[in-house]
Amino acid sequence: MNFDQTESITLELEKQYESRREWLSEKQWLEIFPEAKEYFVERLEELTERKEQLVKEAKRKLEKHKAYQYQNEFDRWFKAKTISVFDLQPIKEINREAQRIACFIEPPKETEGKLTDYQMQVAKSRLLKQIYEQMYGQVRGYVVRCPFHAGGQEKHPSLNIKGNFYYCHACGATGDAIDFVMKVRGLSFKDAVLSLQ
Ligand SMILES: [Zn+2]
Repeated sequence: MNFDQTESITLELEKQYESRREWLSEKQWLEIFPEAKEYFVERLEELTERKEQLVKEAKRKLEKHKAYQYQNEFDRWFKAKTISVFDLQPIKEINREAQRIACFIEPPKETEGKLTDYQMQVAKSRLLKQIYEQMYGQVRGYVVRCPFHAGGQEKHPSLNIKGNFYYCHACGATGDAIDFVMKVRGLSFKDAVLSLQ
């Protein structure tokens, strides 16, 4: 058997594996491997500690900023912007991850089948790249094959997946993670949100 043959067999196996692989959310994984919960508890502690440090540091900088006599308004604005980008943004990201993880440790209760704000927040904070990979397998980078045109078989990837959003340069499909799951898996809004917990 030559190299090309071996490679094509490997590709074929990979294709079969991907087509049969079930789509599992992190929560479903946790139901299969409850041991992972310990990891989430540790991770949450780590995040909480890190957040406390960052908050302390950001507060210190903000106080200093408030007390400082700036030469002009631009300097004042620029400094405030810098603090917001470099100090406040990472805190927001940690908060988002912490909320997501807290949900795995103790799933919020549903009331009469209605979605809670918490569930909405968790669904909205999911990264599209991660969702895409759970459905289609690992990808490199943030431009991937678009499932919304060419029957999902396009040759040159044109779907941008960034944060919680997607946008296709070829067909113009756009939306957030909830929207993506609704369209690709044919789910209702509520089921899509629930599948992203
Ligand atoms: Zn497209």
